[in-house]
Amino acid sequence: MSDCLFCKIAEGTIPSRKVFEDEHVLAFHDIQPQAPVHLLVIPKKHIASMNEWGAEDAELLGRTLFAARQIAKEAGLEESGYRLVNNCGRDSGQIVFHFHWHILGGEKLANLNPSSN
Ligand code: 5GP
Ligand code: ZN
Repeated sequence: MSDCLFCKIAEGTIPSRKVFEDEHVLAFHDIQPQAPVHLLVIPKKHIASMNEWGAEDAELLGRTLFAARQIAKEAGLEESGYRLVNNCGRDSGQIVFHFHWHILGGEKLANLNPSSN
């Protein structure tokens, strides 16, 4: 998609700090990290959000998950743990409408259950 930031990163027309790439999936450092490790994993195919993928994309999204696990391991997070986040739509704060996982780790993350913090 011509005006999509992450498509441009996937094509290489906008630079990124890549940590993984194969035919279908790309991962790179978030430009504004929210944790000591903050990586983004994208399918190279343009899928706007979690709301937009079809059955034909199931294998591709599986590939993004498989890559995310490997990337987290290579970032040293396998034992300490990490969070895999997808923002979908306005209330989530999604700002880039090309599907992506955030991998967050490298410190104790705020618990999603406030009573456990
Ligand atoms: P969202 O809120 O859409 O789930 O997250 C988009 C993420 O993309 C944000 O964490 C933001 O910091 C990151 N981001 C935005 N523009 C760029 C960019 O040009 N390069 C990289 N590497 N990350 C970006
Ligand atoms: Zn795109």
